[in-house]
Amino acid sequence: MSILCELCGKRPAKYVCQECGRRVCQRCFNVYYELCKDCLKPVLEEMEQYHVKEVFDINWMLKFMLIGFTMIFLGIFFVILASLAAIPETSGVFFFFIGPFPIVFGYGPYAPYLAISSFFLFIFLLFFIYWWYKRKNTEKI
Ligand SMILES: [Zn+2]
Ligand SMILES: [Zn+2]
Repeated sequence: MSILCELCGKRPAKYVCQECGRRVCQRCFNVYYELCKDCLKPVLEEMEQYHVKEVFDINWMLKFMLIGFTMIFLGIFFVILASLAAIPETSGVFFFFIGPFPIVFGYGPYAPYLAISSFFLFIFLLFFIYWWYKRKNTEKI
């Protein structure tokens, strides 16, 4: 003889809610949170609010990161410019952002190589940030 679910009263109870202590069936229970249907609702609502707030924070962080990377690439550009200043055949590359779009243009005989290498570096860093974000987010959840 098995105890019936205290929520729906139809299926046999398999789990105990960690919040209210009711014995509930598989359908009325969330295994991940170890809560019954009734107790899960406010938790999910709270999570939703938290999530919205977090997305807002991430947007802010992304903006700061974009500014940071623009600065880094400006720095790289100036380093390249400085190192090439002594050479008669100077090359340089400009790297800046219009919103999320990186714009690259260069001058001199080495410009295409400089532009391509800095662009790939940027893509690599972008992927790194993406990976880092994903890892951070999964750790939180
Ligand atoms: Zn049930
Ligand atoms: Zn409960």
